Amino acid sequence: MPGQFFRKIMIDSMEIIGYSVAGEESFVAIPSLDVCFDVGRAPDEAVSANHVLLSHGHMDHAAGVAYYCSQRDFREMAPGTVLLPDNLAPAVEELLNVWGQIDGNRPPANIIPMYPGQEYELRRNLFAYPFETNHSWKALGYTIIERRNKLKEEYLGLPGPEIVKLKNSGIPITYTINMPLVTYLGDTTSGDFENLACVQDSKILITECTFFEQDQHERARAGKHYHIDHLGKMLEKWNNEHIILTHLSRRTDMKIAKKMIKDTFSPELAKKVRFLMDRPRRSPA
Ligand SMILES: [Zn+2]
Repeated sequence: MPGQFFRKIMIDSMEIIGYSVAGEESFVAIPSLDVCFDVGRAPDEAVSANHVLLSHGHMDHAAGVAYYCSQRDFREMAPGTVLLPDNLAPAVEELLNVWGQIDGNRPPANIIPMYPGQEYELRRNLFAYPFETNHSWKALGYTIIERRNKLKEEYLGLPGPEIVKLKNSGIPITYTINMPLVTYLGDTTSGDFENLACVQDSKILITECTFFEQDQHERARAGKHYHIDHLGKMLEKWNNEHIILTHLSRRTDMKIAKKMIKDTFSPELAKKVRFLMDRPRRSPA
C-alpha cells in the first residue's frame, strides 16, 4: 500500500522525504535545496519543489511530470522547472501539449534539456551537476553542488578596507570551493560515473539498490540495476558520510536486506546506510 514505506530522514538540518519502490513509484524531495529527484506520481512533496530533476523516463520515476506542472499552475505557484535528459525534452513538451488539448489548458513549465557535465544554477551558489549513469539511454544522475568563494589564507586577518583595496586592484584574493552536498543516482548499474569525485565525495549519496538475493545477479545485469554485492564494494571505497538506499523491490524482505548490510559491509560503512523505503520507526515511548 503506498505510504507504508513513505519515509522522512533528517540529516543535520536537511529533511529528505521520499518514496521509492522499484516499478511502482520513486521520488526524493529535499525542501531545503528546493529540488525533487524524479517525480513519481507527483505527490505534494514534489509539487512544492521549484525544480524536478528527472533521471530517466521510466514511468515509475516520471509519470507525474505533467501533473506536477499542472498543479503548480493550479496552486498559483511559479511554473515548475524540469531538468531532464535532453532526449526526453521534446516528448515531455509534446505530453504537455497533449494535456493542453485534453484539459483545455497547457500547463506552463520550464523544460530544461540537460547534458552530462552541463551545470544548471538552481539558485545563488547552488548548482545541479548532471552525469551519465548506466540504465536506460541517456539516463542521468545529479550532484547538488554548493559553490563558495573563500578568502585566500594569506589575506585572512587583513582589515576590511585593505581587502577591498586589493580586490579593486584586480588581485585575485579568493579561491573557489565546490561542496558536493547530495548525489542522486536514479536507476543504474555500474558505470564510469563511479569514478567521479563529486559522486565519491558527496556528503549524502542516494543510490538505488534493487537486488539483494544471491540468485538475482543476472536480473540485476539484465535490468541495469545495482546488486548489493557490487554496490557494497564500491561504497567501501567512497567517502560519503550518509548513504540512502532506494528502489528496493517490493518483494525484498527488509529484515533480510538489513541483515545483509550488517553481515557483508564493514561496520563503518554499515552504520552510514539507511533505507528510504523503510517503515517509519516508532518514536520512543
Ligand atoms: Zn528505470
